[in-house]
Amino acid sequence: MKIMVAVKRAIDYNVRARPKADGSGVELANVKMSMNPFDEIAVEEAVRLQEAGKADEIIAVSMGTAACQETLRTALAMGADRAILVESGVELQPLAVAKLFKALVEREQPDLVLLGKQAIDDDSNQTGQMLAALLGWGQGTFACKIDLGADDLTVTREVDGGNQTVALKLPAVVTVDLRLNEPRYVKLPNIMKAKKKPLDSFKPEDLGVDVTPRLKLLKASEPPGRQAGVKVADVAELLDKLRNEAKVI
Ligand code: AMP
Repeated sequence: MKIMVAVKRAIDYNVRARPKADGSGVELANVKMSMNPFDEIAVEEAVRLQEAGKADEIIAVSMGTAACQETLRTALAMGADRAILVESGVELQPLAVAKLFKALVEREQPDLVLLGKQAIDDDSNQTGQMLAALLGWGQGTFACKIDLGADDLTVTREVDGGNQTVALKLPAVVTVDLRLNEPRYVKLPNIMKAKKKPLDSFKPEDLGVDVTPRLKLLKASEPPGRQAGVKVADVAELLDKLRNEAKVI
């Protein structure tokens, strides 16, 4: 059983994302970057499956600038066996990432591809779904529990108002949600060991994929600031304001 796991280098979840002064995107200069939190959960799940004897090999994949190597080393320190970087200076949008993953899946033939449910920088929530569609594979999205068998798996999905459990044949694509597990802390000896693990590098051209962006970001802006509240004297005044000022009743 081979598992491929996606790890995106994204703005650290503790950092407050701010638009650039000219509104042309999110400010990334001098901003701490880390592994996308949902991808940490995906790596953790792959490592747990391997520790349970259900997976033989874990390949971590990251796509973006050369700095993604750092993210891949973190995945290797968590327990992935080897890593693949697809290096590109062009902004990689979900469709391009999904096409690159498809090309790598065709080379590596994994049984399972684990991705985060969404990247916290673009909040697209598209890549896993697009990849499953491009491959013609089944998909279990928003997984909060995964039971892996030899040639199938069940995925419990977090849906509005409860859980839904689906059965999938392998190979399959699964995107993971917050409550699947709690990722481990990376220990120093494992960081040292990770430096020696193999890391291959490709360019999109090597994989025959055109990564030209299909979407143009028109504007990035802060959400409107919250207005200060007012104190009302009594219920009658509250109702009056709701009726005549807010016009919500
Ligand atoms: P998105 O569709 O952009 O919200 O991303 C969903 C998931 O796709 C992420 O949590 C990652 O697992 C994966 N992914 C997206 N972009 C990349 C990338 N550049 N490199 C590696 N994985 C990615």
